[in-house]
Amino acid sequence: MTPHVLIIGAGLSGLNCALELQKKDIPFTILDSSDAVGGRIRTDNIDGFRLDRGFQIFLTAYPEARAVLDYDELNLHSFRPGAMVRLNGKFRLLSDPLRRPQDVFSTLFSGVGTLRDKLKVAMMRRTQDGSMSTGPETSIMEKLQTTWGFSAGMIDSFFKPFLGGITLDENLGTSSRFFDFVMGMFTKGKASFPAGGMQAIPEQMAAKLPAESIILKARVTAINGSHEVILEDGRRFEGSHVVLATGMTDALALDPGATERTWNGTTCHYFAADAAPFNEPVLLLNGEPGRSSGSINSIVVPSNVAPGYAPKGQHLICLSSIGVDESDASKHRERVLTEAASWFGDEVSTWRHLQTYRITHALPRMDTLPDSPPIRVLDSGIIQCGDHLSTSSINGALASGRHAADHLQQTL
Ligand SMILES: Cc1cc2nc3c(=O)[nH]c(=O)nc-3n(C[C@H](O)[C@H](O)[C@H](O)COP(=O)(O)OP(=O)(O)OC[C@H]3O[C@@H](n4cnc5c(N)ncnc54)[C@H](O)[C@@H]3O)c2cc1C
Repeated sequence: MTPHVLIIGAGLSGLNCALELQKKDIPFTILDSSDAVGGRIRTDNIDGFRLDRGFQIFLTAYPEARAVLDYDELNLHSFRPGAMVRLNGKFRLLSDPLRRPQDVFSTLFSGVGTLRDKLKVAMMRRTQDGSMSTGPETSIMEKLQTTWGFSAGMIDSFFKPFLGGITLDENLGTSSRFFDFVMGMFTKGKASFPAGGMQAIPEQMAAKLPAESIILKARVTAINGSHEVILEDGRRFEGSHVVLATGMTDALALDPGATERTWNGTTCHYFAADAAPFNEPVLLLNGEPGRSSGSINSIVVPSNVAPGYAPKGQHLICLSSIGVDESDASKHRERVLTEAASWFGDEVSTWRHLQTYRITHALPRMDTLPDSPPIRVLDSGIIQCGDHLSTSSINGALASGRHAADHLQQTL
């Protein structure tokens, strides 16, 4: 059969598989059930505000992204390194002394962690270059407590909201290998937003592919053998190979042999305001010892980082929590607004609610991370890729898609 790869899913893994196949002159078609490319990376435009579907950031040091994306065209706007931490009723600056020496004193005496903790952070940063350790795998919590010996206060008021927000795992049971990787990415690059919102990332990738190779609103409901896919509307596509790049739960519905891990979720409420609650392009973390599950984990004003996220003269505010509260969305919104009012006072009552995203399937849990290549060839012959076979991140999804294309080249 003439080679023609059917890729199910136009998220980052499916798009990167297609870009790599294009380089190798292997023909392909991408089918996606959604109305646009991007999968979990989508941005809604509401009243002139850009709302990413769940708070996400792009780390410029991601090695896979460096190879694929044009950063200048994305017009990246960066966060200030470090974070503000809300602790014991005050906002405290925890900056990156290597990048912002002018903040060294406020960081050292911020009251977040001890002086020894700050020295340990500096030492840790020197050892983490972003490569994933091949040594014994443990949890992030274990590594912070035992290997590095951070104080309970530092773990609770900084690492839990910071790394818990990245992994959506507030107990920090996530693999220490991911910790090494992601801390290295923060050391080597910047946290940023594309000017046009996070969806600009998959859109840039899709723009490099022939328009006719991407078929949207095309939900695959069955795969016949490993060569033919059948759509919800009855259409059939035949190819030489099938790549399953659907995200793990949808993959299971199409092939029961597909890999699954459990999901971590998040809730994100967006508000519009005439004035921002703070003016710095910084991540604000909830380090209060009294916070509980479902509390605010972080607050960002995306328009402080990338002004295009809000219309001129207005601001966009994003309140994120780890997990998805069982209660209805409006009750959770009231709860986080009350919390925000205790930080910022009456101005919170002027915020206008724009949208809430409750995302139960946000990130595949990463309790362990295998050393093996981030793809699976299923018993059916179908090739599976996606972030759940790598790190649950933009970098992981891109790496997995690239490996799927390499595997196909070898097979052909
Ligand atoms: C709220 C949130 C915050 C995040 N924060 C960050 C962050 O800060 N930094 C970071 O690096 N990563 C972050 N991520 C992770 C990152 O977005 C993902 O790792 C990555 O986008 C996954 O890409 P993927 O291609 O593996 O899967 P997906 O993006 O899930 O793509 C799967 C695609 O398959 C399609 N599909 C599914 N079933 C079918 C079917 N039956 N037929 C046809 N098409 C189908 C879907 O429509 C979708 O487009 C975050 C994710 C979320 C949700």
